[in-house]
Amino acid sequence: MFNVKKLFSMTEEGYRNFRRGVFATVLSNLTLFIAFGMIIQMIMALLDPLMTGKDIDTIRVWKLFGAGLAGAALHLLAGRNEYRKTYSTAYGEAEKIRLAVAEHIRRLPLSFFNRKDLSELTTNMMDDCTSIEHVMSHVMPGMFADTITSVLITAILCFFDWRMAIALFAALPVSFGIIFITKRIQERYGRRTVEAKLEVSNQVQEYLEGIKVVKAFGLTGERWDALKDAMKTLMRRAIVFEGVAGGFISVAGIILQSGMGLVIFAGVNLLRNGALDPVRFLVFVLISAKIYGPFLVLLTLLPEFFFYLLSTERMRKLREEKLLSGEENVSLPNCNIELKNISFAYNEEEVIKNISLVIPQNGVTALVGPSGSGKSTVSRLIARFWDVKSGEISIGGRNISGIDPETLLGYMSFVFQDVVLFNDTVMNNIRIGKKDAGDEEVYAAAKTVRCDEFIRVMPEGYNTRIGENGSTLSGGERQRISIARALLKNAPIVLLDEATASLDPENEILIQEAISALVKGRTVIVIAHRLRTIIDADKIAVLDRGELVEEGSGEELLAKGGLFARLYNIQQESLGWSVARQAFP
Ligand code: ADP
Repeated sequence: MFNVKKLFSMTEEGYRNFRRGVFATVLSNLTLFIAFGMIIQMIMALLDPLMTGKDIDTIRVWKLFGAGLAGAALHLLAGRNEYRKTYSTAYGEAEKIRLAVAEHIRRLPLSFFNRKDLSELTTNMMDDCTSIEHVMSHVMPGMFADTITSVLITAILCFFDWRMAIALFAALPVSFGIIFITKRIQERYGRRTVEAKLEVSNQVQEYLEGIKVVKAFGLTGERWDALKDAMKTLMRRAIVFEGVAGGFISVAGIILQSGMGLVIFAGVNLLRNGALDPVRFLVFVLISAKIYGPFLVLLTLLPEFFFYLLSTERMRKLREEKLLSGEENVSLPNCNIELKNISFAYNEEEVIKNISLVIPQNGVTALVGPSGSGKSTVSRLIARFWDVKSGEISIGGRNISGIDPETLLGYMSFVFQDVVLFNDTVMNNIRIGKKDAGDEEVYAAAKTVRCDEFIRVMPEGYNTRIGENGSTLSGGERQRISIARALLKNAPIVLLDEATASLDPENEILIQEAISALVKGRTVIVIAHRLRTIIDADKIAVLDRGELVEEGSGEELLAKGGLFARLYNIQQESLGWSVARQAFP
């Protein structure tokens, strides 16, 4: 039997509530049958005397009537209980699962996000949780409860008259067989529907995110068509899927209810042979009109359950993704970084090939090389966004694969090209560097990296909101804010991705000044694109197609006349001028 708890990533409490829900539904079903059973008994009590010629036992009939009423009242009560137990707990549980997924996503290694795009994650969090909510509130309690009720009723009826019970349920295995045998086919169409649904959410997300470009370049028609196509495909596939699954359910239902004919056929034959009394026959005919209810519900719920198993598959995979773990209370004795024979691949192809490099503390080490040579990858491996495939990276003599990623990140500040700013005040955006920093600390950091002057002239100074991802700021200003953030964090290691886009000279000077303030006295790894800015770095490591091809000081490398010298000269020529400016004093 499958593990329901694991299947739908339920919490311990959610699972307990779910079991209570099933119990409540069984109770509700059984109370209904109490009422029904009493009515049958009543009919028998009324009809028996007609056959036997005795008097009607009026007292018994009234007692049965009373018991039937009590059963109906119980059913009403149990129904209310069932609603509370299954529905409200399912909604509460789905919320918990959503939060747990969000927390899980936060702790996943970045490699995971490499494989999943954002809309898939959003779908996971919203849609899959909604599906789980639906399964837990509408599908599973009914499914489990109907199974239990059906088995109980079958047992009781067998006890009553096993021959008629066989006639009643002879078609049961065939009808359920149809649903199970066609599971593969249902899954095939179900999967196509799930894929189409994902494509729609991709398209919606893309359309909304790219709305500026869509408008600017007049792509409205094209993008809209793509979205419309995705929606049409979903509609088509959903209809086909419903048709296929619905078809199987209908056939199985018809076969199941053919049992009613069998009851009459078997009953009449037994009657003729005098092997069955007419009252029992009548009772079975009456029962056969009602008994298939829970079984028919089961026949409908099973394919629905299969479908939800499919559509929550991603959620299960997400929850099973391994988190990067490591020791949390680590204090590194120093910040010497050493890469020992490291190799790494995002997918199949190796993009870092057996690199060994020492990055001494309190110095500037530049990673240079053509685009795609692996500079960013190396810096992100050092921050343990991914784990290396082979080899080892150590900081202060500790292998970073044994250090908790968040602890490790506490030692590092990042200044990336693609600055991420939040739709919040300037103050809070800088404070991200150090959550408990006082206002004065934030001002001081902003002053040091030359942010203060442009922030003060903003409408509300430091309390100005800066729009989604800092859309109200210039590129240079955004970068300086991110440098202020890093400075505030005051981490001993700084990973710096130099901007590729050229900034205007004034901004460039300001940024260089800001960076100089940031890197003072720290261990700095800079991914350099403009080589003149790092010619005076303490160490330059030159990468080419994932391999370390040269290392040394700028002077040494220029004298050597290798790849670095070649790249350097090309850049100088293209600039048409040659002024050595010291970025890192
Ligand atoms: P650089 O920083 O030198 O431009 P990168 O480290 O970004 O180089 O990339 C090195 C190689 O890895 C390139 O071939 C690039 O296409 C590939 N790569 C980079 N990032 C990813 C990623 N997230 N997923 C798959 N491949 C990637």
